[in-house]
Amino acid sequence: MTAAAPPPVLDLRGVRKTYPGSPPVTALHPTDLRVKTGDFLAVVGPSGSGKSTLLNLLGLLDRPTDGSYRLSGTDVASLTERDRAALRGRRVGFVFQAFHLLPHRTVLENVALAQLYVTGRGEPRRANSARALRRVGLGHRLDALPSRLSGGERQRVAIARAVVNTPDILLCDEPTGNLDSATAAAVMDLLAELNRAGVTIVVITHDPAVAQRAPRRVTILDGRLSETAPGSRAAGGPR
Ligand code: ADP
Repeated sequence: MTAAAPPPVLDLRGVRKTYPGSPPVTALHPTDLRVKTGDFLAVVGPSGSGKSTLLNLLGLLDRPTDGSYRLSGTDVASLTERDRAALRGRRVGFVFQAFHLLPHRTVLENVALAQLYVTGRGEPRRANSARALRRVGLGHRLDALPSRLSGGERQRVAIARAVVNTPDILLCDEPTGNLDSATAAAVMDLLAELNRAGVTIVVITHDPAVAQRAPRRVTILDGRLSETAPGSRAAGGPR
């Protein structure tokens, strides 16, 4: 007998988001999207296309107007805010454009603090954090303050912090937006390396060059998603 396939990490069916107002704004039209374990997906679109709306829904930071969303098999609609926060903490790692590191904490402490609500206290957290930081090439800067690091190094700390709890999905919102193009490419190399090691990744970006690095690409325009055929070089390219 073969074991049942695991559920997709992200499974959106008919998910729509309309912001109330006069007139109301439908930022995301009914959307189906499935992301499996091991996928590396980029969502690319211009400003105002609905990227933040989608990210907020995927990251359980907002609720859809209708449709269903399962995260690793759990239907999130029925959860209380408290359970959603717990699920988010355990299952989702976030990487943002602006790094969001604590300035007065060392690199190691920044990563260790992310485990406070997931793992116990003390030494295991330090060991896990040091391991995550070695994984992103920062094993030699554990005791540095973020202000002593370059932008690319700060983003590596943020990535270590996001993966230290082994989330089901790494959600990256414009992860290279504050970096020059060479540093951005190195950060994308790191994401590709983590993906090869099994981390499931969604990168949201306005930058087609960043999106190009992901094996799976979805374009979002006016709140509508369309997937580019795997292997094609550009949206709308030959199949
Ligand atoms: P992006 O991240 O691609 O720039 P957004 O998801 O922020 O796009 O926005 C998509 C659309 O939804 C835009 O037309 C924006 O003005 C609108 N929008 C976003 N947030 C809100 C909100 N809280 N209330 C009303 N309209 C919103």
